Amino acid sequence: HAGHVIVVGGGFGGATAAKYIKRGNPKIDVTLIEPNSTFYTCPFSNLVLAGERSLDSIGHNYDELKNVFGVKVIHAFAEDIDGVAHKVTLSTGEVLSYDRLLLSPGIDMRWNAIEGYDQAASEKAPHAWKAGNQTLLLRKQLEEMEDGGTFVMSVPADPFRCPPGPYERASLVAHYLKHHKPRSKILILDSKDSFSKQGLFTNAWKEIYGDMIEWVGVSGDGRVVRVDADKREVETEFGTLHSASALNIIPPQKAGFIADRAGVTNESGWVPVNPNTFESQQVADIYVVGDATIAAPMPKSGFAANTQGKVAAAAIVASLAGITAPDPYWANTCYSLVNPDYGISVAGVYKVEDNQIITVPGSGGLSAADASSEIRQAEAAYAVGWYEAITQDTWG
Ligand code: FAD
Repeated sequence: HAGHVIVVGGGFGGATAAKYIKRGNPKIDVTLIEPNSTFYTCPFSNLVLAGERSLDSIGHNYDELKNVFGVKVIHAFAEDIDGVAHKVTLSTGEVLSYDRLLLSPGIDMRWNAIEGYDQAASEKAPHAWKAGNQTLLLRKQLEEMEDGGTFVMSVPADPFRCPPGPYERASLVAHYLKHHKPRSKILILDSKDSFSKQGLFTNAWKEIYGDMIEWVGVSGDGRVVRVDADKREVETEFGTLHSASALNIIPPQKAGFIADRAGVTNESGWVPVNPNTFESQQVADIYVVGDATIAAPMPKSGFAANTQGKVAAAAIVASLAGITAPDPYWANTCYSLVNPDYGISVAGVYKVEDNQIITVPGSGGLSAADASSEIRQAEAAYAVGWYEAITQDTWG
């Protein structure tokens, strides 16, 4: 018996870890707990929103993990975790024992952090920050929007899932509106004063969309404090009311609830980990990867979750074999599409120094500010290549 590993969450981090534990040592029994039989990726969901892709085209299943790698997949929720007894309780009532546990539960929304924005309100003012039904709800509002209407988006302060994601979304919504409802506007109400790839985005917006997109930072009264989802109205910190034809609220976030149940979160709502292995700092034999973790300067991205899943898988395989884990390195690239033929990116390579994750000096960087349209087009093609490669690596 080489050991039993339970993986909770079949998204970017969890599916990758389950596969790479099996690749590292096929004798280890791996059980993946994931409620959904199809996983819809947030990456490229902004293209679905813009009508440039089908939801089906961003759906992935667990057949390869099961049939090729021998991962046992159980479609249920993990409801409770006893880190001392090494047990996981499922929504089916079943209780499973583990030698090592890996959690990659992603994010939960902080309901009511913005007054009036709870789960029920998210059916009327979708966050679309988990892909699937939420994406379709927001798509429907865009389709029903009149020409000349305003698409209002509320963006949280750091840290949150996918730092450039809101601005890619604004871009691709603008692409849709430019072609279908050209008199419309996009208003981004932001709870911070600067954002990822800001210069690249704002220059491209001006060049491609004129004055269609307006961005308001926190100093300009951009922080949304109250939402009336029925009226599609928001109120900002200093009392300004904005009405929307389509309303997208991206609320503040925290680690998925199961991390709390396992006792691995701290007062921030996120999970501190040992950077060498991504084992919890608080509970032994529980490893956590992906958006749920505190891993800055790595962003909360699918690419980061994938590479963290591989590092944690190697650490788990080593620990079950009684050997030391290899020294980790991680990589990340976040591509954003300003339109389907215009890509920009930010990349980084990371390592551990003095027990901290740091950016390898001289690695990575941003797309050039003055790149030619051929290069923007090439980056858009790289984004598609990246999507194909990472989803293949993660789900097969
Ligand atoms: P997830 O991928 O969300 O997986 C979590 C899984 O855990 C889910 O399947 C969930 O069902 C399951 N789960 C949760 N709780 C339980 C439980 N109790 N029991 C069992 N299962 C559970 N990243 C990029 O790298 N590139 C991009 O271009 C990009 N674009 C994005 C665009 C948008 C609009 C958004 C919102 C995000 C984007 N991201 C992108 C970020 C990316 O989606 C996340 O960083 C990534 O999904 C994180 O992986 P994860 O494994 O932590 O969580």
